[in-house]
Amino acid sequence: MKRKGFILLLILFGVLLAGWLFGLKRDLFKGTPYSTVVTDRSGELLGARVAADGQWRFPPCDTVPERYATAVVQFEDRHFYLHPGVNPVSLVRALVQNIRAGHVESGGSTLTMQVIRLSRQRERTVWQKGIEAVQALRLECCRSKKRILALYASHAPFGGNVVGLDAASWRYFGRPPSELSWAEAATLAVLPNAPSSMHPGKRRDDLLQKRNRLLHRLMEHGDIDRFTYEDAIAEPLPDAPHPLPSLARQLVDRQPQGVRTRTGIDIHLQRQVEILTDRWSDELAMSGVADLAALVMDLRTGDIIAYVGNASAHRKRPGAEVDIAASPRSTGSILKPFLYCGALQDGSILPTTLLKDTPVNLGGFTPQNYDHQFHGAVPASEALARSLNVPAVHLLRLYGVPRFHALLTDLGLSTLTKAPAHYGLSLILGGAEARLDEVTRAYAGMVMQPEGFPLHDAEAVWYTLDALSGVNRPDELDARLITSVRKVSWKTGTSYGSRDAWAVGVTPDYAVGVWCGNADGHGIAGLTGARTAGPVLFDIFNLLPEDSGWFEDPMDGIVADVCVQSGHLAGTECPEKTRSILPAKAMESPVCPYHKGGVFVLPPAMEWYYRPYHPEYTGAETPANESPLQFIYPEPDGVLYLPRQMDGTPGAVVFDLASRNPADAVWWHLDGDYLGETHHIHQMTLAPSVGPHDLVVVDAAGNTAHVHFTIAQGRTP
Ligand SMILES: [Zn+2]
Repeated sequence: MKRKGFILLLILFGVLLAGWLFGLKRDLFKGTPYSTVVTDRSGELLGARVAADGQWRFPPCDTVPERYATAVVQFEDRHFYLHPGVNPVSLVRALVQNIRAGHVESGGSTLTMQVIRLSRQRERTVWQKGIEAVQALRLECCRSKKRILALYASHAPFGGNVVGLDAASWRYFGRPPSELSWAEAATLAVLPNAPSSMHPGKRRDDLLQKRNRLLHRLMEHGDIDRFTYEDAIAEPLPDAPHPLPSLARQLVDRQPQGVRTRTGIDIHLQRQVEILTDRWSDELAMSGVADLAALVMDLRTGDIIAYVGNASAHRKRPGAEVDIAASPRSTGSILKPFLYCGALQDGSILPTTLLKDTPVNLGGFTPQNYDHQFHGAVPASEALARSLNVPAVHLLRLYGVPRFHALLTDLGLSTLTKAPAHYGLSLILGGAEARLDEVTRAYAGMVMQPEGFPLHDAEAVWYTLDALSGVNRPDELDARLITSVRKVSWKTGTSYGSRDAWAVGVTPDYAVGVWCGNADGHGIAGLTGARTAGPVLFDIFNLLPEDSGWFEDPMDGIVADVCVQSGHLAGTECPEKTRSILPAKAMESPVCPYHKGGVFVLPPAMEWYYRPYHPEYTGAETPANESPLQFIYPEPDGVLYLPRQMDGTPGAVVFDLASRNPADAVWWHLDGDYLGETHHIHQMTLAPSVGPHDLVVVDAAGNTAHVHFTIAQGRTP
């Protein structure tokens, strides 16, 4: 009998040893699904999503707050900080009680053993309790008491689908565990003991009594004083669970699932921006603009500090949960500053260089400026500030579509998925799509200058931001609409068909991006970047603290003389010069081509449109070797499409010629055939056949102009 008992003991010892060696998983709760939890920069909860198994189970924390720790140790396991994982006294007491009762009645488990039980989820038998005891001893060897308590708090059941202290604290009290009162901490300490008692009914009274008994014990133990105790027992139990915070919804949806993510959001600003954009969204909805997205970046840290993926989500509109701030939208003019800055940086132009503003044909499409006027020649900075389309097209032709495509990609725009040729020159007029978050980040990059940022020339960036800080926007904006006095470098964009309204602005400390429109893509009459998105942009800027200053004037660039009239580098024949600090590669830009013999003379087509805006312009006698005639339309080697008429037959195009001596007669010839003669206004309406053609004009003095073009089949692709 004695021998048999000894063998049994040996076997038991062997099993326990094996359990000791192999039983404990390295990560106790491996495979447990957790809620997605997203916080602001200081750890405040922005929002959370339920775990894959439908439980509100927040990812584990490393520590638990003091009050809860005190309460739960007092309630569950008074000798927690003294025992090695197992408390032999209470275990023996429990064993005796259970044997008497004939089934498992009393726990006798330490918090450490409960951690093991929560991780294994086995039925409660004496045998399982033995395993738990062994593994608890082992757990104590490799984890601190603090960590074990945190593991318990993170995985204990709190009734319904609420698991863990964090989720329980938010669901029952609408607060993080660190802000719980003694009564609340005590409630959550006793709740896992009877998780269903939070529901209304008789068991709720039991819960209240249990809580108050614990509070009494805490007082007796000296953890709280009498006043605190009396206040605490007067507190009622919580009612219906609170909804969790739901800020920056679309940003929360984008975070990795099942983990806790700390974002750069400033929860106070986020709340203010959401109130503001909700209000704007309601107002814009009345004029048919359903969707609004906005974001704010702190340029000193690079963090997005407020993010509204779609303000209309607060109206619970179907589809409004889509994050518009991260969706590709047609860009309008919002990319123009990057072209301007790129062209300044590589010496293609100076800030003052006159850009051509004469008709241009893009495969049958003739872009127009906002005011439907051509100005002949406009300084580059003014063309940017006024967001003129035609000079931008001429500038892109100069800079090169593939280079600009590559620049935009390097700036972080992920949406230019097609080859440069697909976009062509329309790339600068909204032919491509971009995301508000990426566009805003690219604007921010000009200020922040992160490592490897492609627009890095300090002077080029300064001139770009300076051009955008002007309030004179006659093209798009009635400046009186904007009530802010704050100085901001900003740009707007309006897509073709009034589908998208953009406004992006930067100051030394902040970048703000706003997009308005309809996510489903239908246009709204009167929607423009300046009128629709602009006021929202400035309202958001007004929420932000004052900037510490403004962008500092350029200091490190090269110094050169610039021709006052043409804005090019001054040549020997330029009469008026001004000394300027310019981007490093400015000397590679062309010398003034317009001063001849000290006189400012533009080419005929530019002159034709320039003269009405510039009464001081005199021009000159035509040099002997240069024709006074120049085609405005078509451009050399242009590909033209005849507009289709109502009945489906091809219509005609108007050919346009500039002459320095408009009163003189001009004779027109197409492919050698005489067409007719024009005076004063040199236009000819023609419908040439499909294929290549030569158009020749000649005047009485024998001056000629010649243009080769091709009529293409069909309509603009
Ligand atoms: Zn000059």
